[in-house]
Amino acid sequence: MKLKACERCGKRTAEGLALCPDCMKESGAAAEAVAAAEELRDIARVLSITAGTDTNIREAMTGILHIADRLEGGKSK
Ligand SMILES: [Zn+2]
Repeated sequence: MKLKACERCGKRTAEGLALCPDCMKESGAAAEAVAAAEELRDIARVLSITAGTDTNIREAMTGILHIADRLEGGKSK
């Protein structure tokens, strides 16, 4: 899985998705579909660490932190 640019705003989104989660939300996608897109994007960020550049490491860290946030949020409820 890789990251690619959102077709609407150019932000990063998971390969295979035309729009980033933000644009999906704006276009009226279901909350569950948006959450799934966020998950895919974060996983793609984590996997992109293998490319090894500073930018990719930052992307990977951001993805890991987002996943951790969601896991923690899920536990507290
Ligand atoms: Zn977008």
